[in-house]
Amino acid sequence: MQEVKKLLDGYQRFHKKYFQEQPEIYKSLFEQGQSPKFLVISCCDSRVHPVQIMDTDSGDIFVIRNVASLVPINEVDGKSHGTSAAMEFAIKHLDVKHIIIFGHSQCGGIRSLMEGDHLGHEYGFIDPWMEIAKAAREEVVNNYADKDFDEQCVRCEKASIQISLNNLMTFPWIKERYDAGQLFVHGWYFDIDSGSLFGKQGDQFLPVQDILVSS
Ligand SMILES: [Zn+2]
Repeated sequence: MQEVKKLLDGYQRFHKKYFQEQPEIYKSLFEQGQSPKFLVISCCDSRVHPVQIMDTDSGDIFVIRNVASLVPINEVDGKSHGTSAAMEFAIKHLDVKHIIIFGHSQCGGIRSLMEGDHLGHEYGFIDPWMEIAKAAREEVVNNYADKDFDEQCVRCEKASIQISLNNLMTFPWIKERYDAGQLFVHGWYFDIDSGSLFGKQGDQFLPVQDILVSS
C-alpha cells in the first residue's frame, strides 16, 4: 500500500494550501456554487489532465473524461449514458458557454480502434464504445493506408475529434444554443511528446495561440 501514500501526501499539501492558507477560495466556491464557462470532454489517459494543462482553478472547467474523449450520438432509450448525462447537466443547468473536445496523442482507445476487433472479447466495453469513432478509422484506412501505424493513429485521433463535434449537434439542446450563438464548440488536440496544444480550424489543426490571435 506504500504507493497510495503519494496520493495522501498530495492531499495533505492540497488541504494546507487551499483550506489553511487560502480558505476563501473554497469557501466562496461552496457558498456561491459552481458556474464554469467551459465544458471539456477529455480522455481518461493519466497523462492528459485538462486542469493541469490549461492551469485552471477549481470552478473554472467542468470536465467529462471517458475513453478517447468521445461524444456519442443522442440516444434517448432509457439506458445509462454517462457522458450524455454529464453534458446535459453542464449545458442545461450550468449553462456553459464553450464545449471543448480535448483529444490527445498516443491515445490507447484510438489505437485499440485502429487495431480492429479484439478476438475473445477481452475488451467487452471498449470495442462497442469505440464504435462511436469508427468512421474516423475508415477515413484513415481508406486514405492513409500507406502511412505507418503510428501516423495512422494520429490521423485517427484527430479525425475522431470531428466526429465528436458532429455528434454534439445531435443533441437538440446543444444545437439550439449553438445556432443561436450562445454556445461555442472547439476541437483541441494535445501532443504529449511536445506539450503543444492545437485547435481545429477547418480541416487543419493549428497552434491554439494562432487561432485565438486570428479570431
Ligand atoms: Zn486517450
